[in-house]
Amino acid sequence: MRCPYCRHADSRVVDSREADDGQLIRRRRSCPECGKRFTTVEEAVLAVVKRSGVTEPFSRTKIIGGVRKACQGRPVDEDSIALLAQKVEETVRAKGAAELPSHEVGLAILGPLRDLDEVAYLRFASVYRSFDSLADFEREIETLRAAARAREGAAAGAGATEPAGVGAAGAAAGRTT
Ligand SMILES: [Zn+2]
Repeated sequence: MRCPYCRHADSRVVDSREADDGQLIRRRRSCPECGKRFTTVEEAVLAVVKRSGVTEPFSRTKIIGGVRKACQGRPVDEDSIALLAQKVEETVRAKGAAELPSHEVGLAILGPLRDLDEVAYLRFASVYRSFDSLADFEREIETLRAAARAREGAAAGAGATEPAGVGAAGAAAGRTT
């Protein structure tokens, strides 16, 4: 491998060690020309198979691009998007497969995106699940509301003593009628 400092055509491996539970190998290299040291990382390429059958390498940049588009105009910062993409990559790599269908990548995005921003989530889900009617949106929004109610219920239950729990339950019951 070429030296990134002096561009010398070759370098020597002085140390190799596994990282991330054997998912990747870091090599410490030394340049025989300038004597500088640098590190390289080797990891298996994760292939994503598109619906058309075309295969392309998994790209975190692509995830970031797609999520950023869904988050347009939303109060979501770049760091949160980068963190989400990192989470998605960890999830899909943890499956341990050499290749996976693109819809599984989309699926891995949905969960963390819902936690990040519900509007961005709806936008992304509408494309990913190809919503084609208002009913599709309604169903998804109802699912979001049910999850929010469950969270409120859990919080009220944990709070325990006050009639707040009763109030929340009453309100929920009121909404369903
Ligand atoms: Zn060098």
